Amino acid sequence: MQKWLDVAVSAPAHSQVGGLLTYATELALEVGQLVRVPFGKREVLGLVWAVHDRLPENVSTHQVKNTSAALDGVVPLSPHWRQLVQFAAQYYQRSLGEVAMAALPPQLRDLTPAQWARRLKKTSDTATRVTSSLPSAWPLSEQQNAVLAEMEVAPGPFLIHGATGSGKTEVYLQAIARCMAQDPEAQALMMVPEINLTPQLEERVKARFGAQGVVSMHSGMTGPQRLKSWLAAHNGSARIVLGTRMAVFASMPKLKWIVVDEEHDASYKQQEGARYSARDLAVYRGRLEGAKVILGSATPSLESWHHSRPASEGGRYQRLSMPARIGAGQLPFVRRVDMNHQPRKTVLSAPLMAAIQERVAKGEQSMLLLNRRGYAPVLHCADCGWKSECAHCSAFRVFHKIDRTLRCHHCGFTERVPHACPACGNADIAPMGRGTEQLEEHLAALLVDVKRPDGQPVRVMRIDADSTKLKGALEAQLADVHNGEVDVLVGTQMIAKGHDFRRITLVAAINPDGALFSSDFRAPERLFALLMQAGGRAGRDAAQSASSEMWVQTFHPAHALFEALKKHDYPAFAEQQLKERLEAGLPPHTFQALLRSDAREQTVAQAFLNFGNARLQDWMSAMSEQDAALLSQVSVFPAVPMSIQRVANVERAQMLIESPSRMALHKALALLQQVLFESRSLPTHKGLIRWLVDVDPLAI
Ligand code: ADP
Ligand code: ZN
Ligand code: ZN
Repeated sequence: MQKWLDVAVSAPAHSQVGGLLTYATELALEVGQLVRVPFGKREVLGLVWAVHDRLPENVSTHQVKNTSAALDGVVPLSPHWRQLVQFAAQYYQRSLGEVAMAALPPQLRDLTPAQWARRLKKTSDTATRVTSSLPSAWPLSEQQNAVLAEMEVAPGPFLIHGATGSGKTEVYLQAIARCMAQDPEAQALMMVPEINLTPQLEERVKARFGAQGVVSMHSGMTGPQRLKSWLAAHNGSARIVLGTRMAVFASMPKLKWIVVDEEHDASYKQQEGARYSARDLAVYRGRLEGAKVILGSATPSLESWHHSRPASEGGRYQRLSMPARIGAGQLPFVRRVDMNHQPRKTVLSAPLMAAIQERVAKGEQSMLLLNRRGYAPVLHCADCGWKSECAHCSAFRVFHKIDRTLRCHHCGFTERVPHACPACGNADIAPMGRGTEQLEEHLAALLVDVKRPDGQPVRVMRIDADSTKLKGALEAQLADVHNGEVDVLVGTQMIAKGHDFRRITLVAAINPDGALFSSDFRAPERLFALLMQAGGRAGRDAAQSASSEMWVQTFHPAHALFEALKKHDYPAFAEQQLKERLEAGLPPHTFQALLRSDAREQTVAQAFLNFGNARLQDWMSAMSEQDAALLSQVSVFPAVPMSIQRVANVERAQMLIESPSRMALHKALALLQQVLFESRSLPTHKGLIRWLVDVDPLAI
């Protein structure tokens, strides 16, 4: 019998179809099934979103094409899964079809029904028995037991705030093992930030639960591997999915636990297409499916920390603390070098160099951490300390080299770069945090006369995005560090994360100050997390931990961030930051979104966004009182060029939208998107290439 289907296909976000198209079919199809449908001149993958007995009213028969074929043989995607996709599409302001298709393994898009059938045959769908060994080789610590007991009785979501090496991962595995011991079909999703950390963890999880029931999902896998993992999760034979942010969309019919490890990590935010936060979607998904959720970190995001305040104050997550490290391991002793007392233009201070030499002589390793300039440059005067603050907000203005302006990315306030320091007249004003490009050579020169215990010269190695471009390069470099081939390791945040270096006893941050005075209000939060994490690389061998040190070279040794770091006191740091954010009206106390536009010319990119804002203000005067009241809670700021203003001859602009009310923010965004869509082809917008929305952006 003839039926009509709404099918989700990968249509661009702003096309009128919103990603759903109507097709006719004679096949007996259900909601949630995968189909192939004609789309333009091609045939594409689609997902049945609704089935109608009659042709929907707003569609005419001659527009409707026939569904080509079904990819059957597996159960349809569940209502929960579809609801997750729908929520993500609505929240991150993309089309349903785009999000649905991006959430499926890419290889699915290219398979013919015959190829699909062959793939299915290869995958057995008998649920795997997981051989989880409940207590492990050792008795759990008191702290671990307390956290596990709490998680058994309370609903969550839980935020585990635990020092590196406090045994968090063991807690995740135990919680999952206990659940699986009770429920023979239960599935668990475990998310981690980075691919290069997954192998270690993967071995640990497989050793615990048996290799059969564990699959991975990350972008380093081939198409066929990803499809295989996806199918195993979808049919229930995989009991544990271990993956990066994309795994939040894994189809898991018996999902009972979700773990988000290192939940503060920026890589949980997707940076293209639907710009979703896998951490936030994990919390939503947990509630939707009745699965328990653990977010874990030594330095939680301030959003999650704020959410885990007492319920009486509006908190929604339950905070669980694991302050003590397993065994006798101690956190490194923090030393601050006051760079005001060092000769001008010093890159590596004398006391730090002496300490490194001492470590080398003992056959121990040191790690020097460079702050990659992952944030926009702020101008400063090295003589008097003047910085390019905004006169109108508690923000620093960004130095735009192209037109030599200082622009506030918050309120848009713009001035030309002054010829000299406005405070003291010094002509030498420059972006903060420069001068470390040559660090590696500089360091080698300083260490030229120093010998290792075996009489060999000191070996310095740099690990960063450049040194690791070639496949396998990072692994090879890390192996050299582990084998003791390297005495001093220099690198960016890449070396700070997760690695289990056994012989590093000294970690030093060379130039962290730039992040204290950044135009990006999240920079201090990231710096603190980075330094804590880097510190966690020192003294991992308990025998050496007592003598391990973390050095910080700074012009601001008394800064609250370093005071908190010295005490390894994340709560104190968080408290101080949240207070500052409250006073400045910043997240998590308010909500933000960015509208971005790309055009051939910067003026057009900005004009397009400003046009949208002007129309929104016009509309407000004609709206119902109730709607206008809601929208009056939204601030839309003038468009500014992005920090990296031009990429491949495309000019980029952004506009900040802010509100204390999420609902108001979303309403404004929906209206703005509509205006932009309608005005995209106006003559004044000639040269416009595209625009996009970033809800809860990680940087403005
Ligand atoms: P985290 O995830 O907090 O960094 P892990 O769970 O990885 O901590 O534990 C740190 C180290 O301590 C690991 O080598 C782990 O095998 C070990 N470990 C964890 N729990 C215990 C325990 N109860 N007794 C002894 N060792 C443990
Ligand atoms: Zn000055
Ligand atoms: Zn401002």
